[in-house]
Amino acid sequence: MSLEDLYKEVILDHYKNPRNKRDLPGAVLSCSRNNPLCGDEITVNALVEDGKVLEVTFEGQGCSISQASASMMTEAVTGRTVEDALKLVADFRTFMEGKLDPSEEEFGDLMALKGVVRYPVRIKCAVLAWDVLQEALDERDGTAAGAAPHSG
Ligand code: ZN
Repeated sequence: MSLEDLYKEVILDHYKNPRNKRDLPGAVLSCSRNNPLCGDEITVNALVEDGKVLEVTFEGQGCSISQASASMMTEAVTGRTVEDALKLVADFRTFMEGKLDPSEEEFGDLMALKGVVRYPVRIKCAVLAWDVLQEALDERDGTAAGAAPHSG
């Protein structure tokens, strides 16, 4: 089996058996976006405490690339600090621009999306879930930075 076929299998597996695709009761962060070019819709729910991403789930529908990428994303960022998670979002974007050659250990299943780089219209599908995650995490940071200091 070629590496390309293997990657296809990984993407199909995440598409058919999405990880963490469910509602997340008690989620502190939630964000939705769609990709009008392809009809993909992704909602990301996150449970963040003490600057750490405790749990991430997603809901939505769309093409195999968008759904597989969302499934992989939830697995990749769970357990990371918010800072680390945002760094991975940035790394993933660079990866999708074809400008990053990560190691298998760093990226795990995400490596399977490497082939997407050759299909510019598909890159939006792959990055969608990550955009939504970043928006959710940024919102949290914005709230924290803009909040008035505690009195007393
Ligand atoms: Zn799509």
